[in-house]
Amino acid sequence: MAENWRFFKKRAPGAAIAAVVKADAYGLGAVSASRALAQAGARVFFTATFGEAIRVRKALGEGPQIFVLNGPTEKDAALYAEAKLTPILNSLAQIKLWDARGAAGLHIDTGMNRLGVGPDELSQSMIALKGASLALVMSHLACGSGLKHEMNAVQLKRFIDAASLFPKAPLSLAATAGALIGPDYHFDLIRPGVGLYGSGGLDADNPALIPAALIEAPILQVRDVEAGETFGYGGSFKAAQKMRAATVALGYADGYLRSLSGRGYGVLGGAKRPILGRVSMDLTIIDVTGCAEAAPGAMVEFLGPNAPLDEIAALAGTAPYEILTTFAGTVRKTGART
Ligand SMILES: *Cc1c(COP(=O)(O)O)cnc(C)c1O
Repeated sequence: MAENWRFFKKRAPGAAIAAVVKADAYGLGAVSASRALAQAGARVFFTATFGEAIRVRKALGEGPQIFVLNGPTEKDAALYAEAKLTPILNSLAQIKLWDARGAAGLHIDTGMNRLGVGPDELSQSMIALKGASLALVMSHLACGSGLKHEMNAVQLKRFIDAASLFPKAPLSLAATAGALIGPDYHFDLIRPGVGLYGSGGLDADNPALIPAALIEAPILQVRDVEAGETFGYGGSFKAAQKMRAATVALGYADGYLRSLSGRGYGVLGGAKRPILGRVSMDLTIIDVTGCAEAAPGAMVEFLGPNAPLDEIAALAGTAPYEILTTFAGTVRKTGART
């Protein structure tokens, strides 16, 4: 994570490099991730929720700035000051709810239509902010991972236009993928998340980023199987010849997606060992024919340097973000280690 943070520092030398640690740092653990990233030099952190931000504040102590992307709610708006948290205000309603209690960030929607104050609400927003100090004016790219996507330039122009209304505020537009488009997108602060954990973003593979997550699980049994035999539920894989199979203690209850059935692989003895048939709740069967290392207790890698996140995500038919966050909290430390 620290290495990846430094990668962004080199990519955007003129900008501050924040760290997005929402969703328990994408499942890797917000407390340890925040500490490691703070040690690398990060001074600005983003969480999604107030509760996440409290945890990160406890982990980091006073000093670093912590923004809450989802913004204040009626329940927590009054509690920001004590933990020195900074909300991102995403709507006129949140601006009014915040009521200029202290410094805040403003999210301007430039085309994602997810969170943020729309272009038609900008002047009202300025009035409602009543001169409250703005710690950040930000927006978010919808298609940043398509480096040449026409939407990027549209959003960039809308952002520059809208931000000109707030000449004193620091500006931020890019997350992981956006940071790689080029310096025009860096402004004062970039907000990488998934890049810190080893992926270039939705469909932007980036070999310069180092995998930060490792998922391994032990073999429970090894068996020799005759041609014509099938494996697991539904018998969806049939052996065409004699083969050796290993049953591994990892399944969808650990967050290893069932969509990897017949598509994914584990790595053992330096080679990919295809999954045979369906992933089940606690167990997965892999082909270890001709693999001398296959024995009970041997650890098989399912995600890590030899089973790259972006590739596993593609095989599962999902995004690297979902692979990481699906492991979060479900992976069993005894049967599989993060
Ligand atoms: C999640 C998020 C990020 C980080 O995105 P990555 O693609 O993981 O780098 C940055 N900004 C906002 C507003 C986000 O929601």
